[in-house]
Amino acid sequence: MTYDPDNIFAKILRDDIPSNRVYEDDDTVAFMDIMPRADGHLLVIPKTPCRNVLDATPEQLAAVIMTVQKLSQAVKTAFDADGVTIQQFNEAAGGQEVFHLHFHVLPRHQGVPVRAPGTMGDFDEIAQHADKIRSALA
Ligand code: 5GP
Repeated sequence: MTYDPDNIFAKILRDDIPSNRVYEDDDTVAFMDIMPRADGHLLVIPKTPCRNVLDATPEQLAAVIMTVQKLSQAVKTAFDADGVTIQQFNEAAGGQEVFHLHFHVLPRHQGVPVRAPGTMGDFDEIAQHADKIRSALA
């Protein structure tokens, strides 16, 4: 399996298509999922190409998981969450739809199920949630 440089997240990294970024460092970017399954659902990706955990380098994995932890703490604070769900899928058979390594980070509240997949979020609402996360990171 080879990396497709025209996958959606590669285009987001190049700013060929817009995204709502909440965090960025030398190696990683975090941005809001456009089909959020919970308020504050975001994605963390490496800046360099790899499809998923199966072909990522130790350096890519280390950088991404450190950002996942930072953003997990931020969403827990921002949404006064009881917990955080982290999801990650590998290849189509593993549930992956976009083939650039990414981790989902979802703040969770006790007894509240995640929403069904595939429904586009409200852009204004997602922008408000992104602001809350940026404030928690500040
Ligand atoms: P997965 O590959 O882990 O199954 O899911 C890909 C995720 O990317 C989905 O949660 C989907 O909502 C999200 N997604 C797909 N296209 C876009 C996009 O253009 N922008 C953003 N921000 N998220 C996207």
